[in-house]
Amino acid sequence: MEITGKIDEVRRKVKEWRKQGLSVGLVPTMGFLHEGHKSLIVRAAAENDRVVVSDFVNPIQFGVNEDLATYPRDIEADKKLCEEAGAALIFHPEVEEMYAPDFSTYVEMQKVSEGLCGKTRPTHFRGVCTVVCKLFHIVMPDRAYFGQKDAQQLAVIRRMVRDLNMDIQIVACPIVREEDGLAKSSRNTYLNEEERKAALVLSKAVFLGEEMMQDGERDAETILKAMRQMIEAEPLAKMDYVEMVDADTIEPLVRAEGRVLTAMAVYIGTTRLIDNFIMEV
Ligand code: AMP
Repeated sequence: MEITGKIDEVRRKVKEWRKQGLSVGLVPTMGFLHEGHKSLIVRAAAENDRVVVSDFVNPIQFGVNEDLATYPRDIEADKKLCEEAGAALIFHPEVEEMYAPDFSTYVEMQKVSEGLCGKTRPTHFRGVCTVVCKLFHIVMPDRAYFGQKDAQQLAVIRRMVRDLNMDIQIVACPIVREEDGLAKSSRNTYLNEEERKAALVLSKAVFLGEEMMQDGERDAETILKAMRQMIEAEPLAKMDYVEMVDADTIEPLVRAEGRVLTAMAVYIGTTRLIDNFIMEV
């Protein structure tokens, strides 16, 4: 496995692989990798001859009062995990390599990026789309792998790929959880012992909603009310949103019909965590 911070070097490697007729998968990440990321890399390695993992904390997807400065990093641990998971190359650029001082071109999306997390983080998906578009142009993979944990991000990326005719297959991978249910996240490291316990309220609410739907409940308000009550009962939790939307358009639903995404963002102390479930009805 190799690691580089240079765009030209990634291009040179990928061209070499292409000449040999090899397929290429891309796994975009912000590093501080865990088992959730690993599942994406393992899947990519099973479905492609070579896997590139990008490991880059993308500044333009953070809002001004968000955690860009404190976002956890550990490139040595990341290297180990990527190697074990079967990656061929890590792309780990400096901010200056990705963004010229006078960088001025962004990918903007309407609708799909506006609800859910887009409400609280109005510039987030513009940053995500722009960096993913750049990574797609740098690596030019056959397939790119994203986690269902960031369900709105997946919908946004799929929409971008469709709207801008990018010839890349987007592969969605299931949420990987801790044994007690908490969705794995690089941000879980911010939680102290007490908050870590309180954070279980997200997955508990997800499981409750899932169970209600499995039992046949279809009224969005009934399901959301039960989930919200559960979150409001946790003193350390402050709800950002709990919503039911169409998984592809992110339009709010009154009844659970079609591909239904029930998603939430909850602050545990100052840490903002997300979780969700998708069900085909
Ligand atoms: P991040 O480094 O948080 O930007 O995440 C990089 C990719 O890993 C995204 O596609 C995430 O959806 C995915 N990912 C993060 N956490 C998990 C998880 N617990 N299960 C599955 N995929 C995840």
